[in-house]
Amino acid sequence: MISMRNVDKHFGSLHVLRDINLEVPKGQVVIVVGPSGSGKSTLCRTINRLETIDSGEIAVDGVKLPEEGKALAKLRADVGMVFQQFNLFAHKTILDNVMLAPVKVRRVDKTAARARALELLDRVGIANQADKYPAQLSGGQQQRVAIARALAMSPKVMLFDEPTSALDPEMVSEVLEVMVGLAKDGMTMLVVTHEMGFARRAGNRVLFMADGQIVEDTEPESFFTAPKSDRARDFLGKIL
Ligand code: ATP
Ligand code: MG
Repeated sequence: MISMRNVDKHFGSLHVLRDINLEVPKGQVVIVVGPSGSGKSTLCRTINRLETIDSGEIAVDGVKLPEEGKALAKLRADVGMVFQQFNLFAHKTILDNVMLAPVKVRRVDKTAARARALELLDRVGIANQADKYPAQLSGGQQQRVAIARALAMSPKVMLFDEPTSALDPEMVSEVLEVMVGLAKDGMTMLVVTHEMGFARRAGNRVLFMADGQIVEDTEPESFFTAPKSDRARDFLGKIL
């Protein structure tokens, strides 16, 4: 579903992605961990082309990442993304936040978009907040809206970049539960997170990144209990 071949990326003289090779089959949940600055966010952002790459190739569902135009808009619609900051539209209601992209980008008619948005808000457990504004919701609720909004585009892949790291601790689990549900439903997911419990429950694989490289690519259990590299051992020592 996601394929990256020999991907390299620099920011000026900084080499942030070094020869990344990655295949994520349909339905797989891949957890990405690694120290700050190792390139985790950049990796995610190249997949829907929020960042360009210097060389190599990225394909989503067999379609090579287009450079621009309609094909790029289509690709972005197929790749949902949820960030640490929820980025909801403050002046729109929860329902409107979720309906907006399907109506504007997918040209879904408003009645159908509204019904689907309510269904998704129900799925993330906040249908009763549909007419409120983002500021009236807790961080955990806002992040669940952000997930519903991404799902409203019927993406083929969901990318999560530290979706719970800006949340108060008591709100982390309500967001992770929604993500576990998505994983169980067979969504293909790439998740940057240091939530070990989630990684073990929902992850099929863990990628450990350091200095722009994928240093380890293993099953969650073996990564957390028996990391192979010194760098991963050092990293786990700091976060566990
Ligand atoms: P964190 O855990 O702190 O979120 P990360 O693994 O997500 O880190 P990235 O955000 O991908 O790391 O950044 C990788 C490197 O690229 C870092 O050294 C960062 O400072 C640098 N970088 C990221 N974005 C830019 C940018 N737009 N311009 C220049 N340098 C950047
Ligand atoms: Mg990051």
